[in-house]
Amino acid sequence: MKKKRPKNLNEGISGLNRIVKHFLPQIRQQGGLLTISFLALLAETGLHMLEPWPLKFIFDEIIFKGFKVERLEVPFLDNFNVITLLTLLAVALVIIALLRGSMAYVSTAGMAVAATKILSEIRANLYSHIQSLSLSFHNKAKTGDLITRVTYDIERLREVTVVAALPLITNTLTMVGMLGVMMWLNMQLALIAVAIFPIFLMTTATMSKRIHKVATKQRQREGVMAANAAEAIGAIKVVQALSLQSRLQKTFAKQNQKSLNESAQTQKLRAGQERTVEVLVAIATSIVLWRGVQLVMVGTLTPGDLLVFITYLKVAFKPMRQLAKYTGQIAKAIASGERIIDLLERVPEVRDSKWAYPAPPFRGMVEFSGVSFAYENQNNTLNNLSLTVLPGQKVALVGASGGGKSTLVSLLLRLYDPQQGGVLIDGHDLREYTLDSLRKQISIVLQESILFAASIKDNIAYGCVEATDKEIEMAARLANAHDFIMALPEGYDTVVGERGSTLSGGQRQRIAIARAAIRNAPIVILDEPTVGLDNHSERLVTDALDRLTQTSTTFLITHDLRTAKNADQIFYLEGGQVLEQGTHEQLMKLGKHYATLYRLQQTVQVS
Ligand code: ADP
Repeated sequence: MKKKRPKNLNEGISGLNRIVKHFLPQIRQQGGLLTISFLALLAETGLHMLEPWPLKFIFDEIIFKGFKVERLEVPFLDNFNVITLLTLLAVALVIIALLRGSMAYVSTAGMAVAATKILSEIRANLYSHIQSLSLSFHNKAKTGDLITRVTYDIERLREVTVVAALPLITNTLTMVGMLGVMMWLNMQLALIAVAIFPIFLMTTATMSKRIHKVATKQRQREGVMAANAAEAIGAIKVVQALSLQSRLQKTFAKQNQKSLNESAQTQKLRAGQERTVEVLVAIATSIVLWRGVQLVMVGTLTPGDLLVFITYLKVAFKPMRQLAKYTGQIAKAIASGERIIDLLERVPEVRDSKWAYPAPPFRGMVEFSGVSFAYENQNNTLNNLSLTVLPGQKVALVGASGGGKSTLVSLLLRLYDPQQGGVLIDGHDLREYTLDSLRKQISIVLQESILFAASIKDNIAYGCVEATDKEIEMAARLANAHDFIMALPEGYDTVVGERGSTLSGGQRQRIAIARAAIRNAPIVILDEPTVGLDNHSERLVTDALDRLTQTSTTFLITHDLRTAKNADQIFYLEGGQVLEQGTHEQLMKLGKHYATLYRLQQTVQVS
């Protein structure tokens, strides 16, 4: 999970290979567009090299016509008179620039569109893949890290293909082509130019490294700042209650100042690099000029050739200048790509087996048969636990915290698979059914129900996507929610805030019950659904829950034994085992854990 950057070229290339191989299907889909872009890119490179040639001919064939040197024989040019030739060459200059501009447009736009299409497809795959990964993965993964992969890593890949990789290819091709032409024009001058390249490369690489170091430090600091700010804003209630504003502001201001200084330093280093580069280019140009003019004087080179040379030199140095910057960016993008692939290659631990089939409508008989389960790197949370619940029975799971009650229902939902034994519904192991068909038939109401930032109607419909408005209203009525929803300004279309903060706890619960009701599920799980509600809300919610669970097999996790009292069966869990089981009367008669706890709660409530 840790961030890595390819250290050397080999690692980089193998990373790139892995990325291309992994995303080949998506890349192939854009094959046509990519081919067109690449052809345009080749054309652009050729035209770029042609650019100084009209000027060369103007020099050699018009201005210095009488100059006695061996020059490129272009007999075709001798057929024109001077003015026609000049006009033609001037027009050629414009046409070449125009063509090159269009080709550059086609290749950049084509590549950008292709990259965006490829990466949005990858992003969609990644998003659905993350959602399919098991809870055992999500328990360990950091939410921030996953979000970074879906947003930042993907964006970086996209950006780099367009902003860095494309220019790098174009510039490298241009540079190689120009070097070829330079050698063909004059070997000696070309060798002088080539000799300067390594010095140039070394200087820019060292400077880029320094810039990179400061920039990385600044980015890290900004990450910390963002995290601190998010933390403080998220906990604004506590911050204000403890009057921590000014202290937090001071810390923030300090970090802000440091980040500012680092940013200024990066800018200064960049400006310094630009200056050094300009000087190096000037030195290279002057050496070539110094030797070149001598060659022109002795007649081995035409003035036009020298012009081509100098122009090429400037152009060829440009990609060298950006090489260090681009390779840095590309290395980071490769790391991003690998992080994405690492995630995509994770196989969900809980998944449909090859022979899984859609579950038929359940009658609702639930059995745990010798189930043992441990969270990763922990001792057994459930120890050889067995229990049987008949269709339509209401059972209460009670016992001290940490006894394994929530884990038990997680296994029923198949959020995890047991390491030993099996969970059966209607006599079949859960692993025989497809996950989707299993979970569709189980409704759940938690202690703190999560509402999404959407309309109330949608929040209820999340329980069953194909629900009609009529069914939504019926579910809301069943959940004692219809009246208060209608009293809201926009009724069912009212958008509830993040985590439903605009509604009271009782109202949120009733919407969650409506969401559970709309599924009409044969199995219902209630995890302390009335904790923290005032008496009035509790009555409304309990009433709604009674209706919700009328015909379904129901598991109620509760600490309040008054609510457990009416259950058909009560299971007292401790240490991942069922210590006692039976009706309220039976367990009271038994006079052990349950009875002790019940009497204790009664004394507390009476006093
Ligand atoms: P209960 O619902 O009875 O309070 P739980 O099923 O929540 O009990 O927890 C049983 C034990 O499993 C506890 O010791 C708890 O710390 C541990 N546990 C629960 N959830 C996780 C998890 N996601 N990862 C690791 N351990 C867990």
